[in-house]
Amino acid sequence: MKLNVLIRYGELVIKGNNRKEFTNKLAKNVNSLLKNIVNRDQVKFKRDHALILNLDETKKSIIFSILTKVPGIESFSIINIVENDHSLIKESIKDQIKDLQWKTFKVNCRRKNKDFLPKSDIFKLEVAEFVFKSFPDKKVDVRNPDLNINIKINNNNTYIFNNKIMGVGGLPSNTSGRVLMLISGGIDSPVASYLMMKRGLHVDFLTFSTPPHTSPEVIEKTKSLIKIVNQFQGKSRFLNCNFTPILHELAHISKPAYKINLMRREFIRIANEIALRDNYLAIVTGDALGQVASQTLESLNTINVVSKVLIMRPLIGYNKIEIINLARKINTYETSILPFEDSCSLFAPKSPVTRPNIARAELLETEIPLLEELRKNVINNNITEEVVDIAKYE
Ligand code: ATP
Ligand code: MG
Repeated sequence: MKLNVLIRYGELVIKGNNRKEFTNKLAKNVNSLLKNIVNRDQVKFKRDHALILNLDETKKSIIFSILTKVPGIESFSIINIVENDHSLIKESIKDQIKDLQWKTFKVNCRRKNKDFLPKSDIFKLEVAEFVFKSFPDKKVDVRNPDLNINIKINNNNTYIFNNKIMGVGGLPSNTSGRVLMLISGGIDSPVASYLMMKRGLHVDFLTFSTPPHTSPEVIEKTKSLIKIVNQFQGKSRFLNCNFTPILHELAHISKPAYKINLMRREFIRIANEIALRDNYLAIVTGDALGQVASQTLESLNTINVVSKVLIMRPLIGYNKIEIINLARKINTYETSILPFEDSCSLFAPKSPVTRPNIARAELLETEIPLLEELRKNVINNNITEEVVDIAKYE
């Protein structure tokens, strides 16, 4: 059996003059994600919606799984497209809803084509009456129906659809610029990546590993997380920085409570060099205020001052439970909680400072005279790079 799918853009509709750029980008993203599943000419992009025509029903579940992850898509529905003819419209509605589970319904009608008579309000009642006759045990509920029957009468045809499947909304990826995400194998950073992708950013990834203290499994886990979030944007760069030489030096500072803080300052300095070299407009982290010692306002400030590049922290106001719910929604949670230690958990002092100050951090750094040289060396020799693809859709 063949199906048609109606895709709604949502937020893009208000983008004024830029709208064409946004819809073109969305078209490109959708076409590239669906390229092995439907032909390019089956997807028709219009002003405020798109249609996938004559889709093979067996491909429905994979296409739905893809469409729910494309930023810029607000919602989508299966639709029937028929001529502007009363009885064809009614029969098509009957056909569309006959196998669905519902007790109550409501008919909505919009009439763009004013030559179509009667007016929407009257036609709506006619259709409701027809539904009653066809399914005598069903009831109308205009407030909270199980089933919405939507009729949109266009100039040349009529769209009939019922329930909406929600997408992630937001803006198509690659319309707002490129950012460098600091990713660990934890719960937060993949969620932060997703939030940035949803705002139209292309996200590339940088992780700091400390072999042999961290196992290769941590990198594999981080890569798996990237693959999952890449479903929202497509392929990405993945930079893996071997941070061990710096970690070893930081281990010797006279005030161990500052170790995490100084480590974070180094992460940000290295990320800065890469961002400036490779034209990233911002660095992103998964920090949430107050979640751990390195995320108090004092800690964040001590870390932030070493950055010339804008640092974005999309999770700053989130509670852990909200982050976990999002992680579950985007399917990263189960991977994030796999038990591999990351560099921070191994290196963490017993009682990290919660209210560090900048002057003290700077002073402690002077205890490592080779720090700058070491950092240069790490940037030049200790970063490997690869392209990470998209996880398979379930
Ligand atoms: P996450 O779950 O993302 O690891 P977290 O709650 O464990 O976060 P922290 O360990 O304090 O919090 O890390 C805060 C942020 O610093 C992370 O979200 C990430 O952006 C960055 N970060 C921490 N460790 C690393 C690392 N090894 N490599 C790259 N970035 C890191
Ligand atoms: Mg972490």
